[in-house]
Amino acid sequence: MKSIVILALLIVFTSCSTKKETEMKDYPIVPVPFTSVKVNDAFWAPRIRLNHDVTIPIALDQCYKTGRVDNFLFAARIKSGSFCTQYPFDDSDIYKIIEGASFSLQTFPDRNLEARIDTLIEYIGKAQEPDGYLYTNRTIDSTNLHPWAGKKRWEKDPEGSHELYNLGHLFEAAVAHYQATGKRSLLDIAIRSADLLVRDFGPGKLAYEPGHQVVEMGLVKMYRVTGKSEYLDLARFFLDIRGKGTEYSQDHMKVTEQTQAVGHAVRAMYMYSGMADVSAITGDQSYVIALDKIWSDLTGSKFYITGGIGAEAGHEGFGPPYVLPNMTAYNETCASIGEVYWNSRMFLLKGESSYYDILERILYNGLISGVSLSGDRFFYPNPLGSKGQYERSEWFGCACCPSNVCRFIPSVPGYVYAHTDERLYVNLFIGSQASIEFGKNILRIDQKTLYPWEGKVEFIIRPEKSTKLELAIRIPGWAQKKPVPGDLYTFSTNDSSTFGITINGEPVDYNMEKGYAVISRKWKDGDRVELQLPMSIKYVKANEKVDADKGRVAIQRGPLVYCAEWPEFADGKVLELEAPRIENLKSEFRPGLLSGVTVISDGNFTAIPYYSWANRGQGEMIVWMKEDSH
Ligand SMILES: [Zn+2]
Repeated sequence: MKSIVILALLIVFTSCSTKKETEMKDYPIVPVPFTSVKVNDAFWAPRIRLNHDVTIPIALDQCYKTGRVDNFLFAARIKSGSFCTQYPFDDSDIYKIIEGASFSLQTFPDRNLEARIDTLIEYIGKAQEPDGYLYTNRTIDSTNLHPWAGKKRWEKDPEGSHELYNLGHLFEAAVAHYQATGKRSLLDIAIRSADLLVRDFGPGKLAYEPGHQVVEMGLVKMYRVTGKSEYLDLARFFLDIRGKGTEYSQDHMKVTEQTQAVGHAVRAMYMYSGMADVSAITGDQSYVIALDKIWSDLTGSKFYITGGIGAEAGHEGFGPPYVLPNMTAYNETCASIGEVYWNSRMFLLKGESSYYDILERILYNGLISGVSLSGDRFFYPNPLGSKGQYERSEWFGCACCPSNVCRFIPSVPGYVYAHTDERLYVNLFIGSQASIEFGKNILRIDQKTLYPWEGKVEFIIRPEKSTKLELAIRIPGWAQKKPVPGDLYTFSTNDSSTFGITINGEPVDYNMEKGYAVISRKWKDGDRVELQLPMSIKYVKANEKVDADKGRVAIQRGPLVYCAEWPEFADGKVLELEAPRIENLKSEFRPGLLSGVTVISDGNFTAIPYYSWANRGQGEMIVWMKEDSH
C-alpha cells in the first residue's frame, strides 16, 4: 500500500495537458488503460467493433424513441410535456450510453457519434437546475412526481427515488467523456451536481443512504479527476451511514460488519466496488475485511458456473447459500458487469489471481451472453436452462442492461494488463498490442492467441531499453484443476494435462506466486514468451449441497462453459439429455456457426459455448446434464 500513483493512472490525457497532476494514494497495482491496449484478435475485436457500430447507435435511438431524451427536453423547457417514461432512473441510461460512447470514441474516432453526444450533453446542461440539481422527474413538474420520488429532494432516495443513482452514473459518464475528448462540458455539469451533494449531505447535514448504490464509485472517479477531497469524503460518508434499512439494498448493517452477499445483486456489486475504491485511497482495511468475507460467501455458495449471480427474480438478487436453480436463474447482465468491476478492484488491491479466475468466468460466459451475436438484442436475466420461454429483447422498460453493455464492452482491453513499478501482470489472454510506461522506459508487448478456442498464447516483449522486470502471467485456476477458488465446483474428470511456459523456445524458471507464474529477468527486444494452457474437455460437478445440480455435470473447455441447445438435436429436446462419455468427446472449430465457435461433439451430441445460445430462435437449452449412468 506504499506506492503512490499518479492521478492519471486510468487515463490517457491527449488534449488536456494543462491539467494539474496531483499525486494521490490509490490502488497499489495500476491497470493498463484500455487506450494503451489495441485489441486485434478474432474474438474480442469484432465484439468491440460491433458495440460501436450497432449497440451504441441503437441504444441512442431507443433513448429518443422511448422518451428518455424527451424527459431532458421537458426539464430544460426546450419542449413542453410531462415525464414520459416508466422509471425515475431512466435518466441514467443516457449517462451510461455517453460513458460507453466516450470509451468507444477512443478506439474508433467518430465525428457523428461525438456530435450526437454533444447534443445530449447540451440538453443535460439545460435540464440541470441552477444549483446543480439534476433529476428530470422533479424538474419537469415537482407537483406531479413519480410515486418513488419524495416531496422533498433526496428524502426518498433510500426507498427508491434513484436521485443519487442517476448522479452516480452522471459522474462516471462525465469522467469518461472528459478523458476521451478533453471537453469539460459534461464534467462541469457533474461538478455542479457533486458540489450540491457536498452542500446537502454529510455530518450535521442530510444523512439519507443511497437506495441504489453507484454514487460512491462515481464520487471516487470525480475525486480522482478533480482532486477535490470532499468528493472522496462524501463517498465514504454514503458507505458509512448504511445500516438502518433492509437487506435488499445492503442497508441492514454497517458495511464493515457485513459478511454475506445479500439483497439486490447489482446494488451489492456497485457498493462493494465503492468500498474497494475508498479503501484503496484511504487505506482503511475495515472495508477489505468485510469484502473478503462477502467474497468468500458469494464465490463459495451463491455463484453459478457461468459466473452469473443473483439467483432470484423477485428481488433481482441473492438467494440462500447453495440455492442455485437453473431454469429460473436470474443472473442479471448488470450484476455480471458489476461483478467484473468488483473483482478487478479486489485484484488491484491484492494481486491475487483468484479474482481474475472469477472475472474471466463471468466475462466469457454469463456476461457476454447478455448481448446477441448481432449486437442488437439483450438478455436481462441469463438463465442456465430453457424450455423455449427465453429470447433476447430489443430493449426493456428498465433498460439498465443494454446501456451497461454499451459502456462495458469498449472497456474490456483495460482488464488485460496491470502493473507495479517492477512487475507486469498478464491477466487475460486477448490478442493485442500494448504499450506500457515503466518510469522512463516504455515496454511494448504483443500478445498473439486464438484464445478462448486454443490454449497457445505468445508474447513478444519489446522494451525501449533492455530492462529487468517481473512478468507475472496468470495461470487460470481451471488450468490447475480448479474451476473456482472455493469448493462450490470441482472437475470430475481426471486429467493430467498441465500448462507450460518457454522463453525463446527454452523451458524457463518461474515462481508461482498468488496464482501467477512470475518470471524475473532482463528483457531484451524481441524476447518471445510462450504459454501453453491445457484445453482438454472437462466435466464439472457442483458441491453436493446444490440440489439443482445433483447427479448432473456441466462441460467446460478452457474458460468456456458449454450448453446443449435445440438446433443441434433432431427432435429439439435437450432437457433430459444424459452427458455423453467424456472420452468420446472432441472439440472442433466451426467457423460458420454462431460467428465461429469451437463445439464439443461425439457425433450424436453437440454442445456450444453457453454465451452463444439463443441466437437461432427459441427452444430448449441446458447447461447441467444428467450424469452418464453407464
Ligand atoms: Zn440490468
